[in-house]
Amino acid sequence: MKNIPVIMIIFGGSGDLAHRKLYPSLFNLYEQGLIHDNFAVIGTARRPWSHEYLREQVSDAIHETHDQVDENEVKAFASHFYYQSHDVTNVEHYVTLKKLAQELDDRYSAQGNCLFYMAMAPRFFGTIATHINDQHLTGSGFNRIVVEKPFGHDLVSAEQLNKEITASFDENDIFRIDHYLGKEMIQNIMPMRFTNPLIKNIWSGEYIKNIQITLAERLGVEARGGYYDTSGALRDMVQNHIFQIITLLAMPEPKDLSSDSVHQAKQELLKSLIIPTPEEVKKNFVRGQYLGSDTTFAYKKEPNVDPDSTTETYVAGKTKFTSGPIAGVPIYFRTGKEFKEKKTRIDIVLKHINNPYGQAHSNNITIEVDPESKIYITINGKKIDEPGIRREDLTYAFSKEEMAKVPDGYERLLHDVFVNDSTNFTHWSELKRYWEFIDAVEDAWQKENEAGNPEIAQYLPYRMGPKEADNIFESPTEHWIYE
Ligand code: NAD
Repeated sequence: MKNIPVIMIIFGGSGDLAHRKLYPSLFNLYEQGLIHDNFAVIGTARRPWSHEYLREQVSDAIHETHDQVDENEVKAFASHFYYQSHDVTNVEHYVTLKKLAQELDDRYSAQGNCLFYMAMAPRFFGTIATHINDQHLTGSGFNRIVVEKPFGHDLVSAEQLNKEITASFDENDIFRIDHYLGKEMIQNIMPMRFTNPLIKNIWSGEYIKNIQITLAERLGVEARGGYYDTSGALRDMVQNHIFQIITLLAMPEPKDLSSDSVHQAKQELLKSLIIPTPEEVKKNFVRGQYLGSDTTFAYKKEPNVDPDSTTETYVAGKTKFTSGPIAGVPIYFRTGKEFKEKKTRIDIVLKHINNPYGQAHSNNITIEVDPESKIYITINGKKIDEPGIRREDLTYAFSKEEMAKVPDGYERLLHDVFVNDSTNFTHWSELKRYWEFIDAVEDAWQKENEAGNPEIAQYLPYRMGPKEADNIFESPTEHWIYE
């Protein structure tokens, strides 16, 4: 693997994401030789840490995520880390940061290549981007920036943030990260759809009745109540992860696997995304909040949550496209806190066919993304000893050994940033379209709130969300497959 020279600056170097995901992933890439002799990482945050203290943190992060490591390797890797105490709102700190980056560029022969990673609270993204531009932090080689989610709070704020970032970076150098696109089974959607005649040939409204996507979380808002109350399930999960999945399921076949062709196919599809009217939002969407139990708080009683909050901890909805292979097929989705279990699952529900047995089931294709990784197709056969039809699953799954080798989503996506492959990142025009959809739903809900009659279903914790979500289906023969 090619050794890529680069100075990486992580804004938020003392944070949870850096510790749990970025440092272990960078170590794995270091071990594979992708970044090796000619790289340095500057971790920045407000705390007055020393280089040595950051190196200890990096070393801890690796030990917490790896069973066995070569201590010399860990030490050698950690020696590439430098800490810069930095308040992102203070101009002078950027001048010091630039000086350190230039020194390290010389020391590590990084050829002027810079990678900026925004691993901080999203409200700082715009400020950082503006200072990078004003203080000329970019180097003379490649300059790339990774932006965490959420990218904006609505279309207007996303446009503003994009403007601030594009002042210093070209669209091709902006990596809007969504770690779902690094997941094994999400990366399996395209090969499943395009390499199997059995699947490819039925991928149309003629055979597919509907598609259902569930991103179920077991936990409540925990310590994030204050942030979550300004966001909600629609912005937190649908705007990014669910729409990425929908796009992969509904896009036309790209002409090849290049990043440009994949994004072209996605953009072609998204032009035909139907943006719901307020009436459609009322009919096709359900928002909910979890109730309390003997041992847990109701959402409205969680710390830092407004007791009159209208923020949804659950949303179910429907969308459709007017073009693409599954034009007109309803795509139902739901996500929320305090489901009965943590699971990400996609069900492709096929239409029934008339048959002489009468009682045959429809074939469904299910993709389990988390916590298991498998695809299964339900199939009908005959019962052995008695008349009638028996239903079985044909399963495509990975062994435990194979799963153990699957890289974490962050490792995959960081690798892609280093090798400049933006296939699995969100292009601005895609993100813009997602926000147009989300804004339409949020605006309709806001009007309901202002009229004083918001319909917010209250649901029992640790089940499958509010029963009202059973009513969003177009026909009485449709229902949630995963119950
Ligand atoms: P965090 O709160 O743990 O870390 C925030 C970091 O920002 C800390 O290093 C903190 O010291 C620093 N910081 C705060 N104010 C600062 C200031 N004024 N100047 C300089 N530094 C300052 O947050 P996190 O969980 O690491 O999340 C970071 C980003 O990653 C967010 O956008 C989040 O949505 C995204 N993300 C996180 C995870 C995760 O697993 N933690 C997963 C997906 C996405």
